Amino acid sequence: MPFRSLGLNEAILKAVQETGYTEPTPIQSAAIPSILARRDLIGIAQTGTGKTAAFTLPILSILATAPSRGIRALVIAPTRELVVQIEENVRVYAKHLPLTVATIYGGVSERPQIKALEQGVDLVIATPGRLLDIIRGREKAFAGIEFLVLDEADRMLDMGFVPAIRQIVKLLPRKRQTLFFSATLSREIEKLTGEFLQEPETVEIGRRSNPAETVAQSVYEITPHLKVPLLQHLLQHDGLSMVLVFTRTKHGADKIAKKLIAAGISTATIHSNRSQNQRLRALTEFREGKVRVLVATDIAARGIDVDGISHVINFDFPPNHEDYVHRIGRTGRAKSVGDAISFVTREDEDALRALERFTRRGVPRVKAEGFDYNAAAHPREEGRGPQGPRRSPRKPGEIRIPRNDSPAGPQQPRHAHFSERKKSGKPREVAQDGGAKKSAPKKGGFGRFLGFGRKG
Ligand code: AMP
Repeated sequence: MPFRSLGLNEAILKAVQETGYTEPTPIQSAAIPSILARRDLIGIAQTGTGKTAAFTLPILSILATAPSRGIRALVIAPTRELVVQIEENVRVYAKHLPLTVATIYGGVSERPQIKALEQGVDLVIATPGRLLDIIRGREKAFAGIEFLVLDEADRMLDMGFVPAIRQIVKLLPRKRQTLFFSATLSREIEKLTGEFLQEPETVEIGRRSNPAETVAQSVYEITPHLKVPLLQHLLQHDGLSMVLVFTRTKHGADKIAKKLIAAGISTATIHSNRSQNQRLRALTEFREGKVRVLVATDIAARGIDVDGISHVINFDFPPNHEDYVHRIGRTGRAKSVGDAISFVTREDEDALRALERFTRRGVPRVKAEGFDYNAAAHPREEGRGPQGPRRSPRKPGEIRIPRNDSPAGPQQPRHAHFSERKKSGKPREVAQDGGAKKSAPKKGGFGRFLGFGRKG
């Protein structure tokens, strides 16, 4: 189906064509005609499916048909990064239209944001917290709202924004068109749709809560102290050209970045301890290819829309599957393909199994070729992790076998986490790009590999 058949404004079609999109994605084909028909809509779609254009294109198309009358569309999204990215999309799609847009988010001065509201832009894109701070007393500016979009509603729920959203929605006109997007559809999400939407149409793309189909997934079983060496090892391969690394903590993100930079790998970080400007700069440098690796925490990375991410690496495996789905959706966007690699320690095995049960697919276990899985911990790190206690001081005359990867390195695997599999396993390795090896299907149980393919 061509874009032309969807009923969009000519100026929008021109911008879409200039952007290089040849045909609408499934969520766009399904959602755009409904939105143009002025229906409320629930869009259940993973990130990377083209959902931003699915709501911005028809809204801009309708806004373009009538003269400006103050703020007419309000998009609420969970993070500043996502707000900025939606704004970038809007500016591209509206470049042949005389429409104005403003963003509202925390961490920067309120004054220009308030000024933009008072001047009356056509479209406002906002995070819930800052919007609630500045909407009070300025309700009049929002009296002409025709469209309300709640983007990534499941994440807003997770982040505790629902009370703020309820208060904001109370201040908006009841007669409006509401569009609600979420990657997953839980009972709580369904309850919210009942509150905010009227007789909505539901468009669901792909299986619920299933990771993007275009992403090839793999798991490296590893002991905690070998995660950084394994990351560095994998990064020796040029195939990992644009790499987004996820860590659980801000401190962890900084630590990894420091080690990668020391190893000569250009790296930036993005997490909530960094200022808004630092975060945007990191994102720009990553997008422009000035840095090869971006290390991020979940919240900060929410909504990162960077085309061409070759690999997402879960340095720390996410404890809940929604985060996994969102993380891997950062690669394999729209019509391109990507790889999602997860480092899994013994502590993460339950979470991995839960993910596999949830998605009803196994993730293949792979081994890095040429990587020393028997390397010992750095002396300072020994005794901290599950790899065992610190060695006792050497007794006079005692000869010890080195634990590290020195030429006389150990012959016996010191870390027995996965030794059972090794014992029983036939070679499970097939070559994949990046020099790593991908395992063949694991037999039995939920760990069975049911075939993650690449499409397109
Ligand atoms: P989203 O799911 O909105 O985050 O979009 C994911 C990516 O797909 C973005 O980088 C868009 O620029 C891109 N995209 C959106 N629509 C299309 C399309 N019809 N064809 C190709 N790429 C698209």
